[in-house]
Amino acid sequence: MKTIYLDNNSTTQLDPEVLEAMLPWLQTPCNASSPHTAGLVAKEAVEQAREQIARLLGATPREITFTSGATEANNLALLGLFQGPQTGVHVITSQGEHSAILDPCKELERRGVRITRLPLELSGTVSLDQLEQAITPETRVVTLMHANNETGALLPLQEVEEHCKSRDVLFHTDATQSVGKVPINLAEIPVDLLSLSAHKFHGPLGVGALFVRRRSPRIRLGSLVFGGGHEQGLRSGTLNVPGIVGLGKAAELARGRMEQERVQLQQLRDQLEAALLAKITGAEVNGSRDARLPNTLNIYIPNVLGSALVSHVEGVCFSSGAACSSANPEPSHVLRSMFQHLGQDGAEDRARCSIRLAVSRFTELNDIVESVNRICKGVDLLRGVQD
Ligand code: PMP
Repeated sequence: MKTIYLDNNSTTQLDPEVLEAMLPWLQTPCNASSPHTAGLVAKEAVEQAREQIARLLGATPREITFTSGATEANNLALLGLFQGPQTGVHVITSQGEHSAILDPCKELERRGVRITRLPLELSGTVSLDQLEQAITPETRVVTLMHANNETGALLPLQEVEEHCKSRDVLFHTDATQSVGKVPINLAEIPVDLLSLSAHKFHGPLGVGALFVRRRSPRIRLGSLVFGGGHEQGLRSGTLNVPGIVGLGKAAELARGRMEQERVQLQQLRDQLEAALLAKITGAEVNGSRDARLPNTLNIYIPNVLGSALVSHVEGVCFSSGAACSSANPEPSHVLRSMFQHLGQDGAEDRARCSIRLAVSRFTELNDIVESVNRICKGVDLLRGVQD
């Protein structure tokens, strides 16, 4: 039985072209800080990758700082802005952020920062009115994810950026799920800080980047890692040259294929969605069906525990929440925030009985047909329906 992978918001398959670009760097010594020939060649490859990412985002290469992934990029953005004890500082985020934002926010609270966590609306993102009302003269930063990892819900980036600019507040966005899937142009929408991760768009694990705006305004961050002063002193540590080259290549591929790929992903996702809604009694999509990543489907299946379905459906990889929080048995905090009007029990039921599916450039039409069959069988089994 072919295993069908529909957990692409958790991590994606490395693209063969990315692997090809990385291979020479895995087979040769490549310390990009060394002043000899091998070091200079490696440095050139790193700078090429920086340009490839900058081009994908409409940024300049010196605004890109390489990190170990989006978790580190988010930590660097938030903790780098507010080092040491703080007073009179306010930060706005949402209840639906990834733990890589929620946990640094808890750390900021320990440092004395006041945090407002906006609830999610049924669409899966925050209300712009509530955001507007939450901003006070003490607000320094708004940090809101561009695309939600569980529902794919998209934040109206431009509107939020305009709100922040008009109130003189910095705007950081965790764009881990959107980079490479939907267009982002930081020259047109001048977000101040943006986090990304290679493994979410067919690049390697363990490498990502933080975009830090250098002009109007010039953002200054303190570093979290001290050592050799790499990355303009912002992130010390010998550069992961193979990973960085892979990230650059993944960015180049995404940029070249984005328009065509968006259509392809959306068609497959919509077919999956239509089939599951037609075949499973009572199934409903969680979140907006319009302002959403093209590849993501989050679906409520009444009376079927998502975690039970994940383990009962053989040969289809999908998730009952975010992979990163699967160590945590609590039902999805994202869905609980979206459905809080149902009361605690209602929201928990919605969260426990939902699953997330996400297609990628490697998903085929046959995979959709086959996974719908397997998932529906699993639902029937768990609902006690006889053949
Ligand atoms: N933010 C979001 C929205 C994510 O989906 C993830 C990965 N699940 C992260 C941050 C963390 O990224 P990384 O794995 O690169 O640390």
